[in-house]
Amino acid sequence: MRICKDHWAVIRSAIEVRGLSGLVAKDSKEAHKNLMAELEGGAQPPFDPLMSMHWHWHNAALRNGGLYLLSEDPSGKNDGQYCPLCEFVAHAQGFDDKKEIDSVADQILAWCREEGLVPKAARRAQ
Ligand SMILES: [Zn+2]
Repeated sequence: MRICKDHWAVIRSAIEVRGLSGLVAKDSKEAHKNLMAELEGGAQPPFDPLMSMHWHWHNAALRNGGLYLLSEDPSGKNDGQYCPLCEFVAHAQGFDDKKEIDSVADQILAWCREEGLVPKAARRAQ
């Protein structure tokens, strides 16, 4: 399972317009290092809104769609991997991907403000 390019762009944009890009790992190597640190139970890695969004959609898709999502997508799209958001669009009636991504991004922003990771009065970039 992997988020497709189109949905990844929507997610990145949702993070960026909320002023959260500064919290995102600078590259996949740093994101991987943070993930491994978290899995090993060591020091808490810095919160990454992009990875948080990534795991949110993977978990939600597995919970709602099941383990077939971990198999190869026979359509061959997305390099043969199911995109959790494309699956919601295809199977969850009335699922508005952009709106749902924005909703999750708003929750992440609220949490980041509560935790003091971003200023409480941060404005959305235009
Ligand atoms: Zn997708």
